[in-house]
Amino acid sequence: MMVQTTAAVALVTLFSRLTMAKTELVALTHATIINPANSAVIHDGTLLIEGDHIAAVGLPNDIKIPQSARIIECTGKFILPGYIDTHVHFFQSADIFTRPDAVDLTSVRPYKDEVAWIKSHLTDVFARYLRSGITSVIDVGGPMWNFEVRKIANSTAKAPRVAVAGPLISSVARPQLDLGDPPIVKIETPEQGREFVRKLAAHNPDYIKIWYIVPPPPVSPSPNASPAPNQSDVERAALFRPVVHAVIAESHARKLRVAVHATELEAARAAVEEGADLLVHSVTDKPVDNAFVRLMQERGTTLTPTLVVFERYGRTFAHQLNLTPEEKAWGNPEVIATLNVSRLPADKMPDRIKTALENPDAVLDRIKQTYDVALRNLKTLEDAAIPIAAGTDAGNIGTIHGPALFREFQLMKEAGLTPMQILKSTTATAAKAFGGDTGPRIGAIAPGNLADLVILNSDPLEDIAHASDIHTVIKNGVSYSAAFLLPR
Ligand SMILES: [Zn+2]
Repeated sequence: MMVQTTAAVALVTLFSRLTMAKTELVALTHATIINPANSAVIHDGTLLIEGDHIAAVGLPNDIKIPQSARIIECTGKFILPGYIDTHVHFFQSADIFTRPDAVDLTSVRPYKDEVAWIKSHLTDVFARYLRSGITSVIDVGGPMWNFEVRKIANSTAKAPRVAVAGPLISSVARPQLDLGDPPIVKIETPEQGREFVRKLAAHNPDYIKIWYIVPPPPVSPSPNASPAPNQSDVERAALFRPVVHAVIAESHARKLRVAVHATELEAARAAVEEGADLLVHSVTDKPVDNAFVRLMQERGTTLTPTLVVFERYGRTFAHQLNLTPEEKAWGNPEVIATLNVSRLPADKMPDRIKTALENPDAVLDRIKQTYDVALRNLKTLEDAAIPIAAGTDAGNIGTIHGPALFREFQLMKEAGLTPMQILKSTTATAAKAFGGDTGPRIGAIAPGNLADLVILNSDPLEDIAHASDIHTVIKNGVSYSAAFLLPR
C-alpha cells in the first residue's frame, strides 16, 4: 500500500513536471523574423515558444502574449531558424592525424589514440555546433559507431539533432582507418552491396552512403608517344555503376535514402540516373552541362556543395591555412594546434606535406582551379532552382567542426548566391535533406515546428557575414546565451 502511494505521488510529480515543461511559454518580441523557407521577413515581429515548439509567429497585434510568458526583448535583433550543416563526419576531428590514409602520421600519434580522443570529445564537438548556431547536422558516413553518436546526441541537450549514415560503400578500401569498425567498406559485387544495405537497414540509418570513387584518367607518357588506348570518363564511371545501381535499388525498396559522393561529372550523372537522393559534393572536374541540370531537375536531386573542404587539405599541408575568426574562436584549440605543420618532426614529415611545403603556389593554384569550376557550377545549379543544401564536410583535415559553416557561406557568396539563398540552403532546404520525422519540423519558422532558432545581433540579409554574429541559440525551446556555450 505504502509503495503504491509513493509510486502514485511520484507519478503525479512527474506528470506535473511534464505539464509544466510543456506549458513553459517564452515570447521573443520586437524582432526582425526571417523565414528563408518562403523569403518572408517580419519587422517588429513576435515569436511565441511553448515548451519545445513554436506556438505562434506574427505582428504584435496578431499575437496575444499570455501573462505567464517569459519575455525576451529582441529590439534590433534578427531571428532565424537554427542552421543545419548537411555534411559532417563525427569520426574525424579535423586535426592533422584524423586521416592517416591521406597523410600517415601514425608514428607521431597512433590512429587508435586519435579515435579515442574523438570519442571522448563528442560532447565538446556538439557544444561547438550549438555555439555556431547549428542545431541540426547530417553525418554522411562513418563507422557503425555513428549510430551510437546519433543516440548520444538525442539524449544531450547541448547538441545538434543528428541524422546519420553508416559506413561508406566504396570501390576502394582504406585499411589505414580500419580498427575493427571501418568507416569505409569496399564492396565488389552488386549482391555484396545489397547484403550490406540489409545489414545497415537494421540500424535505421537516415541515409545509405556511397563513396563513388572513379579511377584517375590514364596519363599519356609523353606528348610524342602514340595515344594510349584511352578510357573515357563515362567508361571509368561505369566500372562501379552496377554496385551503385544495386545499392540504390535495395535502399529504395526499404524506403532508405541514398547519399552519393561523386565529384566527377560522369559519376554524378550516373548517380543521379540511378536515383541518388543527395549528392554530397560539388562537381569539380568540369562545368555541369544542360543535360545534367535537366536530369537533376527531373529527379529532384539535392546537392550539397561542401566548398570549404576543397581548400582545407591543401592549405593545411602547404602551411597556408586560412581559418576564419569564427573557426579560431569556436573550433577546438587542441585540433587547431595540430594543423600547424611546421611543428611536425622533420623526420616524420609525410611526402605529401613535404611536397606541398616546397611549392605552396602549386597547391593554391590547384585550389583556385577547383573553385573556378565548383563555384560556377553552384551558381548554375542555384539559377536552375536545384535544391542546394549547405554543408561543409567538417571533420576532414582543416575543416573545423561547427564554425566551418561560415567559411562555406563566404564561398557561396563568392559563387554569386544572395544572402537569402544562402540562408535558405542552410535552413529550409537542409531540413528537407535531414528528412525523417524531424526534417518537416525544422528549418522554417512556423507554428508547430520545433523551436530551434538563432538570434543575431546584425542583419544577415545585409551581409551574410552577419550570420555568425550570434547572440542566442535556442534548441528544442531551451535558450543558450551564445557567449556561455563553450568552456572558457
Ligand atoms: Zn564527407
